Amino acid sequence: MKQILGIHHITAIAGDPQTNLDFYAGVLGLRLVNVTVNFDDPGTYHLYYGDGVGHPGTILTFFPWPHAPQGRRGTGQVTGTAFAIAENAVDYWTDRLAARSIAFKGPFDRFSEQVISFSDPDGMGVELIATGTTRNDRAYQAGPVPLEFAVRGFHSATLSQADHRETVALLTDTMRFKLVAQEGDRFRYAVDSGEPAGLVDVLRAPNERPGRVLVGTVHHIAWRTADDDQQRSWRTELTRLNYGVSPVMDRKYFHSIYYREPGGILFEIATDPPGFSVDEAPEELGSKLVLPPWLEPERASLEAVLPPLRLPARQEASV
Ligand code: ZN
Repeated sequence: MKQILGIHHITAIAGDPQTNLDFYAGVLGLRLVNVTVNFDDPGTYHLYYGDGVGHPGTILTFFPWPHAPQGRRGTGQVTGTAFAIAENAVDYWTDRLAARSIAFKGPFDRFSEQVISFSDPDGMGVELIATGTTRNDRAYQAGPVPLEFAVRGFHSATLSQADHRETVALLTDTMRFKLVAQEGDRFRYAVDSGEPAGLVDVLRAPNERPGRVLVGTVHHIAWRTADDDQQRSWRTELTRLNYGVSPVMDRKYFHSIYYREPGGILFEIATDPPGFSVDEAPEELGSKLVLPPWLEPERASLEAVLPPLRLPARQEASV
């Protein structure tokens, strides 16, 4: 039977690619696991961050659009991208952010866990949530942050909605999330997969303005499914329910279908396989510009228009 296993990846829009790389690899200590281009717009980068191998559930990706306007956080958007950290890592992170003059809120309590909340350099909402259920094997083992404090994949994401009811119906009736907690206008749902990154919060925000998806906002959220067969079943069911589901797209590292949930957020269902080792050895991930076969003939012209990137120290190599 088909099942959503949790969050697969979250994709957002950044401004300057180097600023984005310095923040996510340098400050948050994620691994740059893949440097490629946006397959739908090959003159721009697509940067993937994750744990050491880019496990589903750890992957945050960006389309850097240096000349695009600033977006606006609001309803119909993923307004919070939360990473998991260990319970003993809170002081380490408040110190680390303070030492880099990054303003943050917290730690404050949410569902009995400690939350540190801040914005990335483009204004995107990021959280670190201390939880007792993190997995060491979802951290970047060789990253710049000591392993015991390192980010361990996603904790959850927050979906903001002016009217949350139809979004909730999709999550619970169709995608089989279950309500596990509520605090005020925040409703927490979980999938019963036994996998990390299985939580999503729906935030009821009737007085907020609708968001605008541009620089500093999340473009879409992808949910994990085990394989192509399950993805086909999801596509059949969502089509029957009149979601305008895309055809299956080959994203090289996973296969994807896209549909818009009733509140306006772009959802994707992505397969676990084949993963990032399909075209790079694990130790080489993120060390150079990787192109899909159909764009390889255009490598020279693409490299001429893509801005140069200075990789983080532990990943030194030319892109
Ligand atoms: Zn995606």
